[in-house]
Amino acid sequence: MRSVNARQQRKLCSVDEAHSASSPTKQLALCVAEERQRELLTLQTEKLRHQGIHMPAMALEEVHDHYVELYEFAPISYLTLSHSGMIAETNRAGARLFGISRKKLIHRCFAVFVADHDKVRWQRLFLSMIEGAGSETRCFDVMLVRGDGARINVYCICHRSTSDTSSPLLRIAMVDITQLKQAEANLRIAASAFQTQECIFITDANAVILKVNQAFTTLTGYGAEEVVGQTPRLFNSGRHDATFYAAMWESIRNAGSWAGKIWNRRKTGEIKLDWLSITAVRVGNEKGVSHYVAILTDSAIQDATSEQIEHMAFYDPLTNLPNRRLLWDRLRHAVASSARNKRHGALLFIDLDNFKTLNDTLGHDIGDLLLQQVAQRLGRCIREGDTAARLGGDEFVVMLEDLSEQLEEAGSQAEFVGKKILAALNQPYGLATYDYRCTPSIGATLFYDHSVKEDELLKRADIAMYQAKHKGRNGICFFDQAMQLALSARTALATELHIALEQNQFRLHYQMQMCRDNQVIGAEVLLRWQHPQRGLIAARDFIQLAEDTGLILPIGQWVLENACAQLKMWEANPRTKRLQLAVNVSARQFHQADFVDQVSSVLQKTRIEPNRLKLELAEHVASENIDDTLAKTQALSTIGVCITLDGFGTGKLSLAYLVKLPLAQLKIAQSFVQNIGEKAADALIVKTLINMARHLGISVMTEGVETEAQRAFLELNGCFLCQGYLFGMPAPIEVFEQCLGSA
Ligand code: C2E
Ligand code: CA
Repeated sequence: MRSVNARQQRKLCSVDEAHSASSPTKQLALCVAEERQRELLTLQTEKLRHQGIHMPAMALEEVHDHYVELYEFAPISYLTLSHSGMIAETNRAGARLFGISRKKLIHRCFAVFVADHDKVRWQRLFLSMIEGAGSETRCFDVMLVRGDGARINVYCICHRSTSDTSSPLLRIAMVDITQLKQAEANLRIAASAFQTQECIFITDANAVILKVNQAFTTLTGYGAEEVVGQTPRLFNSGRHDATFYAAMWESIRNAGSWAGKIWNRRKTGEIKLDWLSITAVRVGNEKGVSHYVAILTDSAIQDATSEQIEHMAFYDPLTNLPNRRLLWDRLRHAVASSARNKRHGALLFIDLDNFKTLNDTLGHDIGDLLLQQVAQRLGRCIREGDTAARLGGDEFVVMLEDLSEQLEEAGSQAEFVGKKILAALNQPYGLATYDYRCTPSIGATLFYDHSVKEDELLKRADIAMYQAKHKGRNGICFFDQAMQLALSARTALATELHIALEQNQFRLHYQMQMCRDNQVIGAEVLLRWQHPQRGLIAARDFIQLAEDTGLILPIGQWVLENACAQLKMWEANPRTKRLQLAVNVSARQFHQADFVDQVSSVLQKTRIEPNRLKLELAEHVASENIDDTLAKTQALSTIGVCITLDGFGTGKLSLAYLVKLPLAQLKIAQSFVQNIGEKAADALIVKTLINMARHLGISVMTEGVETEAQRAFLELNGCFLCQGYLFGMPAPIEVFEQCLGSA
């Protein structure tokens, strides 16, 4: 074996130098090439000797050099696969194609580099080639996964070479056709995009038509063969002058496109108005234009589509009534015209009562049917020129215009329409197989000029609607200023309530609970808000708001923790260690899924005796979700907490449930107690409630006891547990403890 001569070495190096000769990959490639050349030279010499040709060493070197040039530095990748599918050899381009060094490539199975989805096809191809007879050439493409993970499409010319002595080999020439494939795919996409519903024609830079699609033939009547080679002058209707076309070309030159309506002549001679858009296709980034793409649409279709889009933007798809946007627009005009004509207008805000229940029980399809029928009925209740709109959900608004100049008369006109709507919507509805009855609540407000803004008007009608709901539904209510002021104050208070929680403005007051002989058995904990400006605010003035805003949850937790902490402190003192504290629990607080856990975790933290804590549950809260109430009260009494039914006698809790609840105490509502001596009926109720509690074996307490007479009546009838101003006002802990000392 001889080594590569100096000339070859130089040549290899010069090529490698071009690819950075110092890199380890290139050096490795050089070694492999060198080895390969040695083998080839020996083979060549052997072959020639076999043929009886004895070449001088120099001539052989020349031939060999030539071969090396052809094979080794060819831009095409060459690869030889052994009969077992191993890569036996490859040239530099081959290694580059695979993206790994030649050393790592040689002796690897070719199939390893074939993409998964192509593996089976490759295996079949390989077997049929390798197992075939004689020499054969086949072309195919295959997807490979390069060393760096990139996927490439490769075109292969595969030749089987056989010799008598050795096993068959596959010699493969490969070219990367990834970009070609991508271009092909893009062409396919472009071709299918070209065949859309839109009529398209493409011209060259001189406006000579090169290509049209099927939609073009449908619209214009011309087949491709009739128009290719012509210019769009063929469609000239004669209705546009030279300035029209000059402006069109000016726009294309400057902006690269033009769009507008144009009269065109069809093949039949008919002249039609089309919507045409022309776009210039630029050559690369340069200014020159290679083609123009024109898209034609029948303007009648275009207008219909625009109308449809407009309809969708301004009308409710379910009921076909104007939507909020259109109502808003019309309201602005109505207010302006009311200011001009000095006539009143009215907004009626209509909300269906219990619509959610219908939706939840019979499903949304039935709910939709109801909304459609309501929309139709509303339409029949108003005059032409008035508007019935759907805001969304079950909310509708009717806008009346051109009412009287006189406020009262306009009011009664609006009320008349409102009542008409009430009557219409009260009629039974046929919803699929259901006969359904539904009532609305209507809020009304009048407008006269610009003095009240449009959004404020809608808000007023909405507020009045809530008032109608509040008054028992199925009615109409007019907006009034006092109501608005009350609502604004409520909103302001809600904001302040958040701040109160953050700034620790809540306090607990304690009101004594007494038993026989003026003995204090404990207290009810009552929440107070120490407002920085308004002073001390009683619970009745903010507790409902806290409930509505959800703030009652953190507030309630705070009350519970502080009451338990107080019980803990009392444990140390023999005078107070047996006292009980009653804590009010709101509906929202009680119906939280983890309410029982919250209570027991506070008990665990403070380690107080659970039976010193009484939870006061209003009767209406207990009857809201009776299963939940049963489960929670049972769990609470299992851990030892006492449950008191607060405001007993005011709710609708049935006797059947009353006996099931694990109650420690019934607390008769103060409204009955305070009427003892004034209303015989209330005194009788108190007597009955005390008797009932006694028969049920539940302790009974009365609250709101203010006079000795009331107390005497209660004791006479067997109720010795009392609470009220007679014994003590709710007071801060220091005052309460002082009173204890003197009690
Ligand atoms: P309630 O549970 O019926 O509480 C009794 C209310 O009557 C208290 O009003 C109390 O100050 C008042 N009161 C007590 N004795 C007399 C009396 O002899 N005569 C008269 N006229 N009134 C008396 P307050 O503190 O404004 O509480 C109102 C309601 O707010 C309470 O009614 C209770 O339902 C709720 N509440 C109070 N504190 C809390 C609390 O910490 N959490 C929750 N969730 N609700 C609370
Ligand atoms: Ca209470």
